[in-house]
Amino acid sequence: MTSTPKRGLKPDRAPTRQPGETLRVTLPGKAYQRGNRWWWCVKLPGEEKARSRPLKAQEAKVAVSDRKEAEAVALEIWEQAVREQAAKQTKAQSTQTIARLKAQFLDKVRQYTEIIESAKAKAQAEARTRAQAELKLKQINEQRTLRTGSCECCGAAGLPVMELRRIDSGQLLCPRCLEALRADASRIFSPALAECSTPW
Ligand SMILES: [Zn+2]
Repeated sequence: MTSTPKRGLKPDRAPTRQPGETLRVTLPGKAYQRGNRWWWCVKLPGEEKARSRPLKAQEAKVAVSDRKEAEAVALEIWEQAVREQAAKQTKAQSTQTIARLKAQFLDKVRQYTEIIESAKAKAQAEARTRAQAELKLKQINEQRTLRTGSCECCGAAGLPVMELRRIDSGQLLCPRCLEALRADASRIFSPALAECSTPW
């Protein structure tokens, strides 16, 4: 391949310049004639490497033989390749954009999940601490309930400390002795005084 880029379609003889023809599009690649048909060796936009192709209209079976027609066909092929390439790039870009947005979204979801998870873990830790504290309190109450003592009046032993009452004299009394003491007190004092007196 000896093609040089930016080389125009070269006719066998110098093109005759038409009146009013002021703009000529120079296409890359190399145009050449095979027999009397025009061919074009070019690397179109989006193609990996240059290859030869007949310069023919889409429906035509053979390449054109007219040089002007060949130029027009080449331009059309080039434009088509540019359009396809642009469409591909746009599609690739939107795919990239979608992928980026998706990644961002998933990242946000992950962040929220982490926040929720840490809040959940915190709540669980708090619940555990609370449960432990409640258990400890329950154990203390149970121990207090289970603690036993003796009545310092009748001498009954193994009575729950919770049920024993300390009276003014400093003695620790069981409920039965306490009841008896109260009954005695109400007999000793007059009914009027008993009514006024504060309970033991
Ligand atoms: Zn007693």
